[in-house]
Amino acid sequence: MTTKLFESVIFGPIQSRRLGFSLGINLLPVNSKLCNFNCVYCECGWTDLHSIEKVVFYKRDEIKLQLEKSLIDLKIKNVKLDSITFAGNGEPTMHPQFYKIIDDVIDLRNYYFPECKISVLSNSLMLGNDKIIDALKKIDNRILKLDAGTEKMFQLINQPLNKRTLNWVVSQLMKFNGDLIIQTIFLRGYHNGNYIDNTTDEEINEWLIQLKKIKPQKVMIYSIDRATPEKKLQEIELNELYKIANRVNLIGIETLVS
Ligand code: SF4
Repeated sequence: MTTKLFESVIFGPIQSRRLGFSLGINLLPVNSKLCNFNCVYCECGWTDLHSIEKVVFYKRDEIKLQLEKSLIDLKIKNVKLDSITFAGNGEPTMHPQFYKIIDDVIDLRNYYFPECKISVLSNSLMLGNDKIIDALKKIDNRILKLDAGTEKMFQLINQPLNKRTLNWVVSQLMKFNGDLIIQTIFLRGYHNGNYIDNTTDEEINEWLIQLKKIKPQKVMIYSIDRATPEKKLQEIELNELYKIANRVNLIGIETLVS
């Protein structure tokens, strides 16, 4: 198995376990990854630390045009679309016109598929920018990453490029006053000689403490199911994920295991 990059701006629709029939928008360059995390499990591969300087983004108008074309095509085919989802080759909120593109997507959704949800998968690192927060508040599903309850595990798993801390990320997530979904991957393994395991009692206890502060509507938990850049990682079995989900349910938060 090799890591995979999206080759177009619009992709799918695909049947997603979490979002239903979902049309994807990749705001990042095709065939290369751009992110401010360097997660050991990222299905797009390792982050190129110099990519931010040389990246060329698709223009807002081009993205709007391509999305409208796809929506017209799906409408003609009488497809029932559940979600238009921002995902793709990295962190969508890093597109410099992200908050304007959100407005375009809302307009197109309202016109062609008013019942369809708009979802954004994000790692939260751009939430220091109020325009990004405001844009995310306009859509239906803000699905934000929280893979660790301790600083040590956060740095080992997500490897943020701009020295952000877990406390900073949690304080940004609290700005949504609970109107968000948290997404967490569970895994074990080694990276650069360091042992990674966010499933220990201590890690889960600390992660639950963070969840109590954030108060999300829902938590989505999962494990590795694609090729990862770090090969020494191990998938967590479903029965273990369900045990973790039970602990989240005990603090009154709905949990989806996939
Ligand atoms: S935040 Fe997402 S895109 Fe960025 S490195 Fe992590 S898994 Fe990959």
